[in-house]
Amino acid sequence: MNTLKITDRKKLLTERHNLETAGIWELEIQGKKRKMYSPCNLNIVIGRMCNCDCGFCFFQGKRMKKQIGDEAYLAGLEAVMKRLRGLPVEITITGGEPTLYPERLIHVLEMVKKYGFSHRTFSTNGTGLLKRVDGKPLMQYMKETGCIYNISLSRMAVDEAENRRIFRGDTIRNGGISQAAVFAEVNDMDLRLSCNLLEGSVDSWEKIREYMDFYGTYGITSFLFREIIPPKKSTVVSETADRDKKHVSDVMADDKNKEYISVSDIVTEMKQEQDMELLKTAHGMVYDVDIYSFGDKLIKHYQGKPGKAQKGCAEEGEELVTSLIYEEGELRTIW
Ligand code: SF4
Repeated sequence: MNTLKITDRKKLLTERHNLETAGIWELEIQGKKRKMYSPCNLNIVIGRMCNCDCGFCFFQGKRMKKQIGDEAYLAGLEAVMKRLRGLPVEITITGGEPTLYPERLIHVLEMVKKYGFSHRTFSTNGTGLLKRVDGKPLMQYMKETGCIYNISLSRMAVDEAENRRIFRGDTIRNGGISQAAVFAEVNDMDLRLSCNLLEGSVDSWEKIREYMDFYGTYGITSFLFREIIPPKKSTVVSETADRDKKHVSDVMADDKNKEYISVSDIVTEMKQEQDMELLKTAHGMVYDVDIYSFGDKLIKHYQGKPGKAQKGCAEEGEELVTSLIYEEGELRTIW
């Protein structure tokens, strides 16, 4: 997937490792030796439930995964952590919406700290970040357990009504984002707004700039813009009056694809800016990254590589495992 990460030069918390020096290690998983990217991301799915119902949600239509009890969930996670302890693994906490499960979430945060893993991302729609549990907001638990990097708050538009339309649910209001931003600033936490590029919403470089200007007034300096899953074309064969001839056409697979905006098109617009300067291209195993300077901002254009182009695995025809997933007692490599 292609993304744009935009950060103030003064606050570069988001990049904590050099993708050009990443390595490979091996892990036996599901009875098979796999080549692992270093550092590998362990996605801990707290639960699939969400208060929203986005059309592009990864779990759309698959929300009803059978849930095991919290005790079994935490015991399973602890076993995984004991096994991965000391290996090049970083943690992403995700859902569904993780803040809807405060009891699980707090225990998971404590366990990540206990086993000494480093946090990579906390993925949320923001709804419960300031929710109080035993007198403390969840963000306070995050701070105390070292979950301070890339708190990635999904926000698809500046306008409240537009957000509700896209999320198909009531998520955090701008006032709440402002409070979370203050909390993050005071506690040296990296709150990042994450926005999907969608036709009719944030769909151009100009709209990206408006979005950043608006939330910049809240003190937010870190942004991620991503494209949704690229359109799949499906071939439709329709019969014409002449039975021997078939009319073959490519159509978009579904409505979701009509909203697709490509990051490459945005980059083409972005490069028209007079003070946009390409500083360098970094070549990683799974991404190439073009790094631009633009005023007080640093812009990174991540371009994912297909499996066979990934360094270190091409000969074997095997894809690197960049992510592990822990969900409901099970550890796996595929979403
Ligand atoms: S907010 Fe996130 S988890 Fe919830 S429906 Fe939207 S994409 Fe899915």
